[in-house]
Amino acid sequence: MELALRFLGAARHVTGTKHLVEIGERRILLDCGMVQGPRKISNEANTRLAVDAASVDAVVLSHAHIDHSGSLPRLVKLGFEGEIHLTHATGDLAGVLLEDSAQLQAQDAMHLRKRGVDWVPPYDLDDVAETARRFRRHRYHEPFEVLPGVRCEFFDAGHILGSAMVVLTIERGGRTVRLGFTGDHGRKDMPILRDPERLPPLDYLITESTYGDRAHQDHEEMAESLAQIVREEIGDGGRILIPAFSVGRTQNVLYELGNLMAAGRIPRLPVWIDSPLSSKATKITSAHRELFDKEARKIIETGREPFFFDGVRFVEDREESKSLNGVRDGVIIAASGMCEAGRILHHLKVSLPRAQDCVLTVGYMAEGTLGRKLVDGAPEVNVLGEPRTVRCKVRSILGLSAHADWRELCDSLGHLAKTATRVFVVHGEERQALAFVDRLKQLGFRDVVAPSHGQRELL
Ligand SMILES: [Zn+2]
Repeated sequence: MELALRFLGAARHVTGTKHLVEIGERRILLDCGMVQGPRKISNEANTRLAVDAASVDAVVLSHAHIDHSGSLPRLVKLGFEGEIHLTHATGDLAGVLLEDSAQLQAQDAMHLRKRGVDWVPPYDLDDVAETARRFRRHRYHEPFEVLPGVRCEFFDAGHILGSAMVVLTIERGGRTVRLGFTGDHGRKDMPILRDPERLPPLDYLITESTYGDRAHQDHEEMAESLAQIVREEIGDGGRILIPAFSVGRTQNVLYELGNLMAAGRIPRLPVWIDSPLSSKATKITSAHRELFDKEARKIIETGREPFFFDGVRFVEDREESKSLNGVRDGVIIAASGMCEAGRILHHLKVSLPRAQDCVLTVGYMAEGTLGRKLVDGAPEVNVLGEPRTVRCKVRSILGLSAHADWRELCDSLGHLAKTATRVFVVHGEERQALAFVDRLKQLGFRDVVAPSHGQRELL
């Protein structure tokens, strides 16, 4: 029986994760992410999906982020009839993320229609509802059968709430083959979540490489940088805008700000969370306390609320969002994380030309995004079709990343060199992926490649 892998997304790239496991005639898709970036490229990729949907027998989803889950409703619409396996928290988060994605697409279509462009979104809310009906929820370490002869176990990836590393155990002609997939690999000592677990011995490994040649600040350095930036930027009539993904980063930033205020390291400040999706994701996170680490549990035991503390305001409607234009000496956290859409754009329009304001980036900015242009120091940018001179300060904290850096990945995966005969490095821009290939070889892994888009590898 032939066993093969096909890399259909996030190969030498960071979005649109889709890895197809072919076991004879049967097919399991690991993640079904949406491609993000320039409209022309993403549109094509998110409509066609590069896979015959009806031929996929099952999906295993590592976590809820849209670049891993966002094309699931399209897969269903195109004829996928199987089950989607995920953890409980991933099911909760993916439900709201996919609904939000369908709503954003419908709004996009409406705006385009006004400009005379006819665009049919890849899916709508009905497709999302049908997708959610396929969800099969599992706990970590409760192995389940994906297809006859193929078992799956989820390990905590420590990346976002519910995130999992996936281990498939495949019966192949009397022999057992173990294939591991890191999904997005988190970090030790990060806020709220437990540390990433160690994977068991594997024959094959698919690993991410977002930070394949970069090193992060450790947690305390990050907290100190955040405290310092807040102290410097608040008090002069300026405000701090933090673009953040609704799921994961928003809760982390909020949690860190709460801890710094409680410890008296920064003054008590108003904090607005300006995204309905971020509000929902924060409620879901708060409801899954069983997944929290020791530190977060301790805070709750002392009676302090890690997310819903004094001064925090969850903005629901547009009118209230607009009224934030007058905000001074406060923090606004809004999506999207890379400044490609969402309410952050309206706030950027106001803040970019104001020297006393500060845009604080707390995560990865992919090439080509507005967030990346700001971080790279562009003197002028376009926001919602209007030019804006950048006079505000743009500062960055890297230590909040939910992805392991190369040293952390090597620490976590190094023990697999003894058994893993082949490693496939994905989910990194080309430079990062290739750099990480070299790092793994230095660790003693023999056969390590960074597959290209569409590449098929026989195992
Ligand atoms: Zn992720």
